[in-house]
Amino acid sequence: MRLRNVKDKEEIIGNSDQVVKDPYKYKGKWKDIFKNNNPIYVEIGSGRCGFIYEFAKNNPNINFIGIEKFKSILALGLKSHEFTSNIRFISIDAIEVDKIFDHEIDRVYLNFSDPWPKKRHEKRRLTSKDYLDKYNDIFDSDRNIYIKTDNRKLFEYSLISLNKEGYIISDIHLDLHNDEINDNINTEYEEKFIKKGMPIYQAIMIKKK
Ligand code: SAM
Repeated sequence: MRLRNVKDKEEIIGNSDQVVKDPYKYKGKWKDIFKNNNPIYVEIGSGRCGFIYEFAKNNPNINFIGIEKFKSILALGLKSHEFTSNIRFISIDAIEVDKIFDHEIDRVYLNFSDPWPKKRHEKRRLTSKDYLDKYNDIFDSDRNIYIKTDNRKLFEYSLISLNKEGYIISDIHLDLHNDEINDNINTEYEEKFIKKGMPIYQAIMIKKK
């Protein structure tokens, strides 16, 4: 994602009830934030937030948390959406995710994660062992990771990386938009790649408790 500095990002985030400013203190207590026992889905690298707002609107009985490390990107997303009670955002690097959640998450979405193609940057990929280790104790029960990407190499890498950690493929599409699907929500990045006629890869990876 091209990073443009949003000058009033601190103000936008500071004034937003949609953003949890001190997420560390809610570890194990996220249901208190939402004031219900509904399942909690997390998108890591939520970008301009479009996926979460659309998903949350269609699914009022699910809570959503977006994790976005760049404040400028999150601020842009917040600017173009209304407050929605079943959504919260956190501005941290997802490598901290095990300090934020404790056995309370039902699903993780990794939509169009940065591919980090160079071998020396492998640890930065959101499906590297370093990150997968951090996701281990955040799940309430079975571990469910939903991956969507335009990047075939990242897709292949992710399937192998997750498989090595005991995840199995529950569903897979090698050209999502030419398959019969009915519940897909396009992300901002996905819209761009569809316009270019690129295939979108998707996998649902599960590790039973
Ligand atoms: N998911 C959105 C979409 O599909 O339109 C955005 C995709 S964009 C390519 C990747 C996003 O992930 C960027 O906004 C980036 O800042 C964020 N990101 C990358 N690594 C991250 C990390 N370790 N923790 C939190 N956010 C991260």
